[in-house]
Amino acid sequence: MDLLEPGTLEYSILQQFLFQEGGIKPGKIAKQLCKERSTINSAIERMGKKGILRWDKYNEIRLLNKGRNELKHIETHLHLIEVFLVDTLSISTKKAYKESLRLAPHFSCELIEKICNQYNKPEVCPNRRIIPHHPACHSHD
Ligand SMILES: [Zn+2]
Ligand SMILES: [Zn+2]
Repeated sequence: MDLLEPGTLEYSILQQFLFQEGGIKPGKIAKQLCKERSTINSAIERMGKKGILRWDKYNEIRLLNKGRNELKHIETHLHLIEVFLVDTLSISTKKAYKESLRLAPHFSCELIEKICNQYNKPEVCPNRRIIPHHPACHSHD
């Protein structure tokens, strides 16, 4: 399982799909990320070549299986970091979510597994979202 490199534009583009089910128009992504349309377009083309998404020009961008898997993996990290932050620092669930968006890609799968075990493999995050237990991240036995 190779996660996109955190901090890259491609990574930020993928993260936009966390907030929106289904397709997104490149123009919307450009707006949300405050980037030039042409910059976004070329990143999207690169991601298309990697098999992460599909973009038929003038249409919405859709994630392909590979992209959806990467996103699910990010979500696994995201939610388990929320669990950890809320418990250890007693911060609000809203704040924990915001911080976890930043931290998610920087935590190793090994650390995420430790958090998961520490909290008895939680099913939902503090914001009541289902935690996808992505098999490529770590396994439960
Ligand atoms: Zn787990
Ligand atoms: Zn992982």
